[in-house]
Amino acid sequence: MDFFDNIEKNDHEQVVFCSNKEAGLKAIIAIHDTTLGPALGGTRMWDYTDDEAALKDALRLSRGMTYKAAVSGLNLGGGKAVIIGDSATQKNELLFRTFGKFVEGLAGRYITAEDVGTTVKDMEYVRMETKYVTGISKALGGSGDPSPVTSYGVFVGMKACAKFKWGSDSLKGKKIAVQGAGNVARYLCEHLYNEGAEIYVTDINESKIKKVLETVKAKVVKPEEIYDVDMDIFSPNALGAIINDDTLKRIKAEIIAGGANNQLEDENVHGPMLIEKGILYAPDYAINAGGLINVANELEGYRQDRALKQAEGVYDIISSILEISAKEKIPTYQASNKIAEARLEQMGRISNIYTGKSNFSGRFGELIKR
Ligand code: NAD
Repeated sequence: MDFFDNIEKNDHEQVVFCSNKEAGLKAIIAIHDTTLGPALGGTRMWDYTDDEAALKDALRLSRGMTYKAAVSGLNLGGGKAVIIGDSATQKNELLFRTFGKFVEGLAGRYITAEDVGTTVKDMEYVRMETKYVTGISKALGGSGDPSPVTSYGVFVGMKACAKFKWGSDSLKGKKIAVQGAGNVARYLCEHLYNEGAEIYVTDINESKIKKVLETVKAKVVKPEEIYDVDMDIFSPNALGAIINDDTLKRIKAEIIAGGANNQLEDENVHGPMLIEKGILYAPDYAINAGGLINVANELEGYRQDRALKQAEGVYDIISSILEISAKEKIPTYQASNKIAEARLEQMGRISNIYTGKSNFSGRFGELIKR
């Protein structure tokens, strides 16, 4: 593998390889772009088959974070870290504190958070060595669980889709099939229920469904049957790659809008297929940006009311994406990428004007000078 070819291909700014024998740490921190602000993105712990797979993942995920922050109007860049190892057996205080020292060494160019394979507790160890970590518990002044804010963004994004498709953003009486009954889905179902939607829900874990039914009336369907429900809206909130050749034959919804990451199995194939089938698809990374909006709020001293207010902006973001997609006849994820790239390009043009002042007043204010 040619490392520099890979790094240059997607215009990454910096890739840091972190190694410490005593702690058994092997990690990669990828900083994709800091045009808009410090690179923020979680730390994934995964037992990669080889180092090349770990690097590829870090490069791909950090680039995704640049686009997510840019389209959401946040003053953040894109970054991501991966720790190579088994999160079930190889975690300990030393590992995460050592990783925290490497994050600290980047002096704020990269801010970390939890991700697949890492938890709030792990991030608390990281925080012992660096302040450049978000998504820590409320007790330590952090933002805690981001799901309520993510769900709210998904809810308003879904309403924007309804407005575009049907001329009204009311979801009253709409049949909505929700895949997954976890954190994001549970809060989403509450919003949908209060709006008067007819909810169908599924999960492989029955206890999760029970929890949803404590506050919401919904019809329960088997996991494999969710794609065949007679529905207006399909809302994926569990797994990735669930929009594929097989499910697209079965989904009769007019809108797909949910919080799950990486919903399209293959963007280049299933993006155009959604257009052909006349299904309005809210790009996952734009509609689920509430999670990032939530942690970004931590940088200024966390307040959930402010985070929820900002997540309301997902409505306008999704509306703009749908308009561009319809006007230019391009898949919605391409329209979303275009908005992100335009913002990066425009803000990049003024990034050399030094004002001596920060836009932010919080604990990271000194880093965000643009
Ligand atoms: P979660 O683990 O709380 O919920 C996921 C649920 O999906 C679980 O209850 C699980 O049992 C269920 N599930 C797994 N396989 C399934 C299947 N085949 N059919 C039906 N259900 C299945 O996770 P979450 O925090 O609610 O996140 C859901 C999705 O949203 C993930 O893709 C996540 O990456 C994405 N996301 C979450 C946030 C957030 O703030 N939590 C932010 C952005 C994106």
